[in-house]
Amino acid sequence: MIVVMKPGCEESDVRHVVELVQQMGLKEHVIVGTDRTVVAAIGDKRSVDKGAIETAPMVDRIVPILAPYKVASKEIQQDPSSVLIAPGAVIGGARIGVIAGPCSVEDEGLLLEIAHAVKAEGAIGLRGGAFKPRTNPYSFQGMGETGLKYLAKAREATGLAVVTEIMSIDQVDMVSEYADVLQIGTRNMHNFNLLVAAGRTNKPILLKRGWSATLDEFLLAAEYIMNEGNKNVVLCERGIRTHEEYVRNTLPLAIIPAVKRESHLPIIIDPSQGTGHAYMVPSMSLASIAAGADGLIIEVHQDPEHAMTDGAQSITPEVFAKLMQDTRRVAEAVGRTA
Ligand code: PEP
Ligand code: MN
Repeated sequence: MIVVMKPGCEESDVRHVVELVQQMGLKEHVIVGTDRTVVAAIGDKRSVDKGAIETAPMVDRIVPILAPYKVASKEIQQDPSSVLIAPGAVIGGARIGVIAGPCSVEDEGLLLEIAHAVKAEGAIGLRGGAFKPRTNPYSFQGMGETGLKYLAKAREATGLAVVTEIMSIDQVDMVSEYADVLQIGTRNMHNFNLLVAAGRTNKPILLKRGWSATLDEFLLAAEYIMNEGNKNVVLCERGIRTHEEYVRNTLPLAIIPAVKRESHLPIIIDPSQGTGHAYMVPSMSLASIAAGADGLIIEVHQDPEHAMTDGAQSITPEVFAKLMQDTRRVAEAVGRTA
């Protein structure tokens, strides 16, 4: 439920409501909005004495949260959230945040070169997997900690925020030492223990939609993270499995307005996993921005033919440079910047 405070309430009034909520065994989330402060009380409703809260000083009213997700829901926060992924680098808000880099970290020199190239074009984050979830156990599995060290060096050299995947709970501490943003991949969106572990870190989380997950399941996965106290969640649509064969995944951009309607969380689009083909990446990126996405995560490689993973969907730095110019124009047309 949401406890809506009256305009002009004092901090002590909010604290009192928080205490009542805690006494009822519920978890509180205080959201200070532009004109109202609300206290969302989450947990088992059976233990709730609504009357005690309703009569507390400066409480206006109590409203139930109808959505199955609570903290991620627009019902408790109308204003869109923005997530700070590194000093000066934000996802959500007026500026489109672009994260770019290779699918996997393969080599220190190659990574640095890509990092400099994407930074020069206006990217704010560097992507690159050090732990790779591969369908085939004989495929390249990533460089592990060595890859993380290369990513950290690239951050030092460029100032880009490092975005990299965690596949299991035992990787969380190590990856957190090197990364700015922890990515939870499509295959792990339903790994609830991993979501909880991510929620207990203080790192922003890039949560990818499971390739067969519904929007509700996606937002409930975000809720698992946020319920642990970590509100810095960036949603990422990366395509879903359909019968289609001309794409690796089908990229449903209609999720952008749907997410904006249901949640205050920012959403970015991954047109690389989302299509599987480099030639489709620029047009789907522009369509994403036009549809209201808060950012993009794009695979870039200077020699896609020889990339260790996902070369077919990786664009070159030259194509990326052109894409960033076009992105700026589309962003401007829809009242944003890039
Ligand atoms: C990736 O970003 O390279 C990746 C493996 O993503 P996803 O989890 O969306 O497949
Ligand atoms: Mn990939």
